Amino acid sequence: MRVPVGMPLRESEAIVLRTTRLGEADKIVSLLTRQWGRLRAVAAGARRPKSRWGALFEPMTHLRAWIFERENRDLLRMNSADLIESFFDMQKEYRIQVATNYLGEVTERLLPEREANERAFRLLVAVLKGLKVSGEVNRPLGYFDYWMLKLGGFLPDFERCHNCGRDMGQGAFYGPGSEGLVCRDCKPPAAASPLPKNDLRTMALACSQPLDKWLRTQRVGDSIRVRLFLEEVIRTHAERELVTVGMLKEEG
Ligand SMILES: [Zn+2]
Repeated sequence: MRVPVGMPLRESEAIVLRTTRLGEADKIVSLLTRQWGRLRAVAAGARRPKSRWGALFEPMTHLRAWIFERENRDLLRMNSADLIESFFDMQKEYRIQVATNYLGEVTERLLPEREANERAFRLLVAVLKGLKVSGEVNRPLGYFDYWMLKLGGFLPDFERCHNCGRDMGQGAFYGPGSEGLVCRDCKPPAAASPLPKNDLRTMALACSQPLDKWLRTQRVGDSIRVRLFLEEVIRTHAERELVTVGMLKEEG
């Protein structure tokens, strides 16, 4: 590999979030890198039919990438990449594909550009492995939502009302646009049926361990309603509608 003189070279593990076309031959690759957080880089020649490396940029591919700063240019440039692990085959199953689109979209929406967040990177890798190994959508995505909110400082209190601060008792409510759970007295008119306290506690306990351990050692359980609540909070924080959320609800 030739290194242009005077250009800082950066090497990092990265996950491909999305690609967009750039002209006839190139792609812009949106990445979550381990060292520098989220960024976008031009992969020259990645759209050429016989390009050997175009195939590396399928969504959610785990790469080792070599990235250059370009003088006076907003976009970085990726000069080389090696495959670490592909998460492409599992996306042949539609619900897994929708799940990975959701992961990419939430990551792009919630993480600022060029702000290192190694825990978010490790979370995304763990969730992709969880999807691949288990073929299950609900727990890996619930784990992702829980930890994305926790890492961002947005994880709602599972015990006390977001509005009045009192203990929520046995039922916790939320509605569209919620940032937290509220008690029966504070529930919004469009509230869904209450989330049992037990489900919330079970979810918090499950997410306090590594995802692979949860998937391996415990039964599936009833975490889907808590996941849908966490997804609503993510939607609120993402400021505008996430296109994949509606599709996930249909898929269950
Ligand atoms: Zn209240």
